[in-house]
Amino acid sequence: MSESADVAIVGYGPVGQLLAILLGQRGFRVHVFERWPEPYPLPRAVHFDHEVARILQSAGVMAPLAGHTEPAPIYEWRNAAGEVLLRFGRDTERSLSGWPESTMFCQPTLERILDERARALPSVSVERGFEVTALAETDGHAEVVADGADGARRRVRARWVVGCDGANSFVREQMGVAWHDLGFAFDWLVVDVVPAERRTWEPVNWQLCDPARPTTLVSGGPGRRRWEFMRLPHETLDELNDEATAWRLLAAWDVRPDNARLERHAVYTFRARWADVWRRGRLFVAGDAAHLMPPFAGQGMCSGLRDAANLAFKLDLVLAGRAREGVLDTYTSERLPHVRTTIDLSVALGRVICVPDPAEASARDRRMIAEARERKSPVSAELPPLGPGLLAAGAPSAGRLFVQDRVRRSGTTGLFDDVVGRGFVLVSPHGDPAAALDAPLAAFFESVGGICAHVGPDGPIADLDDAYARWFAAHGVAVVLQRPDGYVFGAAPRLDEAGSLVAALREQL
Ligand SMILES: Cc1cc2nc3c(=O)[nH]c(=O)nc-3n(C[C@H](O)[C@H](O)[C@H](O)COP(=O)(O)OP(=O)(O)OC[C@H]3O[C@@H](n4cnc5c(N)ncnc54)[C@H](O)[C@@H]3O)c2cc1C
Repeated sequence: MSESADVAIVGYGPVGQLLAILLGQRGFRVHVFERWPEPYPLPRAVHFDHEVARILQSAGVMAPLAGHTEPAPIYEWRNAAGEVLLRFGRDTERSLSGWPESTMFCQPTLERILDERARALPSVSVERGFEVTALAETDGHAEVVADGADGARRRVRARWVVGCDGANSFVREQMGVAWHDLGFAFDWLVVDVVPAERRTWEPVNWQLCDPARPTTLVSGGPGRRRWEFMRLPHETLDELNDEATAWRLLAAWDVRPDNARLERHAVYTFRARWADVWRRGRLFVAGDAAHLMPPFAGQGMCSGLRDAANLAFKLDLVLAGRAREGVLDTYTSERLPHVRTTIDLSVALGRVICVPDPAEASARDRRMIAEARERKSPVSAELPPLGPGLLAAGAPSAGRLFVQDRVRRSGTTGLFDDVVGRGFVLVSPHGDPAAALDAPLAAFFESVGGICAHVGPDGPIADLDDAYARWFAAHGVAVVLQRPDGYVFGAAPRLDEAGSLVAALREQL
């Protein structure tokens, strides 16, 4: 059977699912192949950040997810004596993106909700039980061949192919790109537990940096707890990857078969790897296919979902004929430096906890406690701006994440993206940015679906919690051109410079 699609996606983990939704919502024909007939049931991600919440909002899944998540703003790292080595987060309800800084959830639940959303889109088709085994590029298309278990074979012709096919990516292999490895590798037993009774866990999320058994203790979403236990040098993988071992290690936390259900357990080797090129011709990689990191910053899936948001709006522009194909190269140049920082952060955190040697651990404790006293954080959790790409080079705030917060327009109250809209948005608290665009620029801006938003006391859009007023004051600018993925394309100190931002966008596209 041969079909055609705008985009073929290989792999239907969270990254492939989100990409299918973001493209399907824009009306593009998306064909997904997933090797396994059933969803992957094992424990993995439990945390996403505020930016990812905004991305999931754009995919229409934050509402159905609501009963399955809980915020957890503080994340502590303690030594065996209970002293705090590191502390991340602030006890605030909302963040830059209008959602909690940190949200805890269960990955199989998120995948179920993403799947329901993707399948509800008429232009998305998902074929489970088909493994992609060959890729070829011909006359402006790529051909994808997928084989089913019963000998069935599918062929799809697509303009673009995105490998969201995980750590051992077939698509990455076909692209022939370098796969770098930082050499970080530790084995951990990961256990998801459903306690029979409600218990208060204080702190909710923390790491026990005890050389006798480095341990992660975090929420796994409402009603669930996650433990991760590092393999000690004298243990074998088989000893660790055993249900009896899981119960033995959980007993130290008063978790037993009579007061809890062990939902699943698995041993993972945490690694730090990345591909140095994410597009070659008609092929792309995204998510774990493009990068791997240890889970200590809770950023592996988050990074993949950022990839999908970045790539989706660029594929939209190119497929709709509104941008040249070269724009697609900015996917790697923007995302790779961002991901490299996230990998380095995850490894730096890993080097704090993955210490089974008591002498090394006690030297670490002394150093980190002294640094905490001097208020020096040895590890910064700040994520950087995007690398160079589809940005107004040199403009203030270009490549930084922009604010989203509560607004009201014509009696409708909600988060900005839901009330005002998504896409390229010119935002100013000082007046209507549309007034700064001449007729050709206004026509161009309209052709890319641009939106002008005057948010403030005198504007049609009320800034309900002064979040926009604060952001603009803190950054010393009067107008921002926001991209569809929520990042700042560029900003300017005067409202009448809005035209130069739109002109720079026209030039780049
Ligand atoms: C213990 C643990 C804890 C974690 N905690 C966090 C966390 O708190 N926060 C966070 O952000 N991240 C976390 N992560 C990372 C996160 O789980 C992954 O980054 C995420 O699942 C990657 O999603 P993906 O869609 O890129 O890849 P995957 O989920 O691996 O999906 C890839 C899919 O592609 C399919 N596939 C592969 N090859 C083919 C082929 N040839 N044809 C068809 N289909 C194919 C596979 O079957 C699979 O379904 C954690 C990971 C682990 C292991």
